[in-house]
Amino acid sequence: MNNPLLEVDKRIVSEIYTSSEPMDNLKMLCDIYGSRFPGTSGDLGSVKYMVEKLKGYGIEDAHYESYKIPGWRRGPAKLTMVSPFKKEIDCISLPQSIGGEVEAKLVWLGDGAVDVYEKRKAEIDGNIAMVSSANPLGMTRSLHRSEKFIRSVLAGAKGWIFMNQYPAYGPQTGGISPVIPSISVSYEDGMYLVRTLEREGEVTLRIKTTDKNMEVTTYNVIADVPGTSRSKEYVVVGSHYDGHDISQGAEDPASGTVTVMEIARNLAMVKQKLKRRIRCVCFGAEEIGLYGSYNYTAMHADEMDDVRFMLNLDAGGGKGRKGVILHDFPELEPFMNECAKEMKAELPYFQRVGPYSDHWPFYLRSVPCGSGGDPETIRTSNGRGFGHSKYDTVDKVDLEYLRLAASNYTRFLLRVANADKWMAKRKTQREIQDFIKKQGYDQTVQLADKAKAYIKTWPEVHPETKAWLESKSDW
Ligand SMILES: [Zn+2]
Repeated sequence: MNNPLLEVDKRIVSEIYTSSEPMDNLKMLCDIYGSRFPGTSGDLGSVKYMVEKLKGYGIEDAHYESYKIPGWRRGPAKLTMVSPFKKEIDCISLPQSIGGEVEAKLVWLGDGAVDVYEKRKAEIDGNIAMVSSANPLGMTRSLHRSEKFIRSVLAGAKGWIFMNQYPAYGPQTGGISPVIPSISVSYEDGMYLVRTLEREGEVTLRIKTTDKNMEVTTYNVIADVPGTSRSKEYVVVGSHYDGHDISQGAEDPASGTVTVMEIARNLAMVKQKLKRRIRCVCFGAEEIGLYGSYNYTAMHADEMDDVRFMLNLDAGGGKGRKGVILHDFPELEPFMNECAKEMKAELPYFQRVGPYSDHWPFYLRSVPCGSGGDPETIRTSNGRGFGHSKYDTVDKVDLEYLRLAASNYTRFLLRVANADKWMAKRKTQREIQDFIKKQGYDQTVQLADKAKAYIKTWPEVHPETKAWLESKSDW
């Protein structure tokens, strides 16, 4: 097949494969600025670093936008087995947990299937529920931690324990809502509690958390590579940059963040061949609630009709082939095939929509979108592994995959921006709402409303819970 962009492709690929820029940036983001958790000094530090770097790539207008979100500060957490014998067990608080203390019986709910909470309501009510991070067998959608949490609260749980399903990766972190003291334990400590409960028939635990929920300021980094045409239409490529506070968040998300920066660097180098503008965005505060992308789409609401395509590269530089998961845009398949042939690259694609990353607020506003990924790992993967634990460190990321990601996606985006005919259809609000219902994602929202109504009937409510009840959160 003829490749009209062959000379540009050669420049991009040779530049990427003779530079270690994304790995250098990854080391800085992770080793110098740490988790980049919203509101920490590493958050603003990393944002300033990214802006300066992008300016150095020739994108003079690179800048950041600020917004306020419900933030959270971790305090020490303590889990004590009170009976049948006394023992301290390692644990960490889950983001957005309130600070508090609860002593009650342990109820083990296994992988926390949807129907278990109603069935065992009498046991859960007033006690401490523990679930594993595994997705229940037989479920077609992924059952998110936040849904297991809110279903436990609705069944009357007064404390919550999240157990990592993976051995040897310590406790897994992840946001919940500020309602009851909530912690995470390792697979090994969780299984010890399960064995003790099975043998002794009853286990009483005490959870003490000292966390704080408060408003913080965080950021989105924005860098535009201008196109040669006067068209208002443009393309967005993004990845969040914030990690969980206990982690470097090297693969998730920083491998994606540095890929976005590398794409910006290479596009700026060939910008005279770029027809439409490509906007590179590094979003803040994804991990605790997609706040960066929700704020971005709200602050730029009047431009959403001009966005031709949004490519989300969350964790995009991790292992695996570098294809595109299209969020139900089958009309783009001929374009994908053409790109792969022209680029002489593997660009596998697949159709699947998920609500748990930064493409979602764009999807809700009718922007055609996709996520970087390999259909094969979706088939074979059974979860996060070291993700969302403190073991997601720089040494888990390979320069080889960062280069492959940058090489495939820079050239793919160039073609998206240059295509004279763009086949992606914008979904109507009706189509979007129908899809959400069909997948059962509307249940999550309904559950949150139900939980809020239920908590309002409690005789006493923690001040941070009260603030959450009064906030109009997207969750
Ligand atoms: Zn992520």
